[in-house]
Amino acid sequence: MSNDRTDAEAALTAERASTLSLVESLSARLESVIEATADSSSDDEHDPEGTTLAVERGHLVAQLERSRVRLDELDAAFDRLRHGTYGVCEICGGAIAPERLDALPAARLCVGCAARHPARRW
Ligand SMILES: [Zn+2]
Repeated sequence: MSNDRTDAEAALTAERASTLSLVESLSARLESVIEATADSSSDDEHDPEGTTLAVERGHLVAQLERSRVRLDELDAAFDRLRHGTYGVCEICGGAIAPERLDALPAARLCVGCAARHPARRW
């Protein structure tokens, strides 16, 4: 069953691994963009390529930030799993539907509470 502890742990582990590899590839890409920016700044400040790189750098930083938040959420979900509170809504204390946990293994809220608190994605 999808609300089985072992399945939850496997789903969280898989999601954590893919998020980690995403962080690694984003970091590598960001590093090369920073290097390219450093190279082009010595030429011409108004280099159009420099602007493109600055935009890409902004996107990469934002994506990295989101991925790190996701990693934190996954770690918090592992903690809940250890403490036996995994799959319990943090607001109403009700059970989070297994289908929701399948889609979002690190979900903190049940569907009803998540709908009432749209700012909290998890
Ligand atoms: Zn709830």
